[in-house]
Amino acid sequence: MANLILILGDQLSPNLSALDGADRNEDLVVMAEVHDEASYTNHHKKKLVLLFSAMRHFADHLREDGWQVHYQRYHPDNPHQSLEAVVADQVRQLNADRVITTECGEWRLHEQISQWHDRLGVPVEIRPDTRFIASKEEFADWAKGRKQLRMEFFYREMRKKTGLLMTPEGEPEGGQWNFDADNRKKWTGKPPAPAPFQVEPDATTREVIKLVDEHFSDHFGTTDDFHFAVTAEDAQAALEHFIDFALPCFGDYQDAISDTEDWLFHSILSPYINCGLLDPLAVCEAAAQAWYAGRAPINAVEGFIRQILGWREFVRGIYWLNMPAYAQENRLGNTRALPWFYWTGDTKMRCMHKAIDATRRNAYAHHIQRLMVTGNFALLAGIRPEEICDWYLAVYADAYDWVELPNVLGMVMHADGGYLGSKPYAASGKYIQRQSDHCSNCHYKVNKATEDDACPFNALYWHFIDRHRHEFAGNPRMGMMYRNWDKQKPERREALLRRAEHLLANLEQL
Ligand code: FAD
Ligand code: SF4
Repeated sequence: MANLILILGDQLSPNLSALDGADRNEDLVVMAEVHDEASYTNHHKKKLVLLFSAMRHFADHLREDGWQVHYQRYHPDNPHQSLEAVVADQVRQLNADRVITTECGEWRLHEQISQWHDRLGVPVEIRPDTRFIASKEEFADWAKGRKQLRMEFFYREMRKKTGLLMTPEGEPEGGQWNFDADNRKKWTGKPPAPAPFQVEPDATTREVIKLVDEHFSDHFGTTDDFHFAVTAEDAQAALEHFIDFALPCFGDYQDAISDTEDWLFHSILSPYINCGLLDPLAVCEAAAQAWYAGRAPINAVEGFIRQILGWREFVRGIYWLNMPAYAQENRLGNTRALPWFYWTGDTKMRCMHKAIDATRRNAYAHHIQRLMVTGNFALLAGIRPEEICDWYLAVYADAYDWVELPNVLGMVMHADGGYLGSKPYAASGKYIQRQSDHCSNCHYKVNKATEDDACPFNALYWHFIDRHRHEFAGNPRMGMMYRNWDKQKPERREALLRRAEHLLANLEQL
């Protein structure tokens, strides 16, 4: 009995469920770089390099470990340019009895693979992805009967389940579940941010960079200065680097934005966790160990673990519970097209320029840039959710549908009517000024709202508040904004709305 085991580009983990119980002598592992997967969105060039190179290294690792591997390298002339075509061909050649795979990370591909049984004429076994801490069923059980889903409560369940940062008596370490209130400092250059962990590209990576530059030249971003880890060993070294140098300050500056530093104290581990080079639970355990060893404070370690054990698991649960309808949501009725400067960074708004430029260079921007700069602007400007979701899916090395969609459509755009978040993260320029040093370098003036050189976020913020009164006035967490808006003189309100209308009609010129 010969099985064909399909391993996808974000399943680069030796403990993958698809490999459970397999026979190294009989079964064949299939991995493929195919045009359909590389091109269904305008993936950042660095993301393509990361995945192709990490896949090639993983295939080598499996071979060294005694597996038989069929690996298709990308070439535009390959006869099989979809996963289905590659698998169908290998099923024929191997005369395979069965295809085994681990469930994939997006609805689009899940739909396709679910039909392979009929289309390929062999049984297709789709196994659960056990690399997540909560199974889809566990999340669905937790969500059952709840009108609104709140990450904080799910996170506490996950803390109890894993025992992470829990006392033997079952209480949260440090006496609190959440230390977020301590995590809002502005960064003023001290302590200096550590240099990010970097790996020199090896021969495999250099070959892939050449390939991507040649065949994906029209994709977003650049391959220049590619320094991501592409093996589990190097990803582990990246984790250790983070724990040694950035974790101690991760909490304090979690919400900070800098005009000069791209990475601050963030871990830059999502590209590795999401493609399987690092195990999320092991990452959380390593951070918890750093606290027990006195190497990092509780606000940093709890904050970091919450992002993975809480947010990452939570958004994944939301995705699978609500797809495919979730992707169509647009409860705020947005109709505006995404301004072109999201692709070029060519805007006079310093904060937007910096976030987009870092994205273009690094295939990375940290959470607050994604949420409060590029995300906030899209929310205030009423960009169509589908377009902004496509942008986020394309531009980041860590972007996969299951994690990108709830973050963008739910957390940023509030397009799901508050199912994921209790209130929109809408903010004026003041927030960006408080958390960053962008404004003093900006063409626009953050302290102005209605003048020609006024910060666009200011008038757009009030326009957002005004135009969505129906949706938000009754939200207890938004009451204060409406009282502030209603308190302003009618002439002032009119001037703000006029300025915002002008901005909305001229988004491309900002
Ligand atoms: P750190 O700040 O060091 O955080 C540690 C880890 O926590 C991350 O590596 C990640 O695994 C996890 N994490 C933190 N926040 C979230 C979150 N909201 N959802 C899921 N995991 C989280 N993350 C992705 O992995 N892929 C995406 O496509 C993605 N798109 C996003 C789009 C928007 C609009 C927003 C607001 C957030 C998005 N995030 C996404 C979440 C978060 O911004 C990134 O995980 C984080 O910036 C990755 O950088 P890091 O590894 O340095 O994270
Ligand atoms: Fe951004 Fe406004 Fe500050 Fe300029 S003034 S950096 S547009 S928040």
